[in-house]
Amino acid sequence: MLKEIIKNIITKKKVITFPEGFNISPEEAAKIVSFQEKIDRAFSRSLRIRQVDAGSCNACEWECTALTNPIYDIQRFGIDFVASPRHADVLLVTGPVSRQMELALRKTYLATPEPRLVIACGDCTIDGGVYRGSYAVSNGVANVVPVDCYISGCPPTPIAIIKGLMELMKKISG
Ligand code: SF4
Repeated sequence: MLKEIIKNIITKKKVITFPEGFNISPEEAAKIVSFQEKIDRAFSRSLRIRQVDAGSCNACEWECTALTNPIYDIQRFGIDFVASPRHADVLLVTGPVSRQMELALRKTYLATPEPRLVIACGDCTIDGGVYRGSYAVSNGVANVVPVDCYISGCPPTPIAIIKGLMELMKKISG
């Protein structure tokens, strides 16, 4: 195994591994390889995400956290979460944007270097979801900052979030 890894590093061959029992068709595998190639092209192999909790119930965060576990392991695509918007390419926002978080979200958006992208993750971010119409929320991320990609679900599964990232890559790199 180690020999194989070293050989692949030397020859720069792309190898994507999947956990045992993770059934995936050749077509899906090809899509994932093209996803990684798009990240490589657009972000020099490193897509950095700053997650912003804009008033969520935290279930969306749990699903985002699962992205870095050994099952989903998004770091193998060169994607990772960062602590500061200044180090991020993408903001991944969860929650309906509570009034208290409006200004913080705007400031975080402006602190992200261009070309900054925004993913609205979870039903709340689309139109307020279960909080829609409450005096305390802005009824969705697009009412506060521009959104490039929506991921539906309450909460969305890690696979749905990965698919959303794939869609975003498709949109920006064709
Ligand atoms: S979309 Fe659902 S799971 Fe996510 S923050 Fe809103 S209520 Fe919670």
